[in-house]
Amino acid sequence: MTSSDERPGPVRTCLGCGKKQPKGLLHRLVLNAKHQPVSDTAQTAPGRGAYLCGPGCLKAAVKRKAFQRAFKQSVELDVPTLEEVLREP
Ligand SMILES: [Zn+2]
Repeated sequence: MTSSDERPGPVRTCLGCGKKQPKGLLHRLVLNAKHQPVSDTAQTAPGRGAYLCGPGCLKAAVKRKAFQRAFKQSVELDVPTLEEVLREP
């Protein structure tokens, strides 16, 4: 086997359910200047990122304070906006 085309890409852990998934299937969130987690649609923003697979996991992550842990600081969560973002494919 010499082909590297089907190598699994980077895998990230969802903050809500803790499942490991290929990075491409997860939404990447980064903190903006106001300490709000926002979607990093291009997946290229610098700094620490957090990953979620969907709106259901957002709620779980909020409950578990997983965002604070992922970003290692307190965050200003705008849950309704994030939910909208996570509904996008
Ligand atoms: Zn999840």
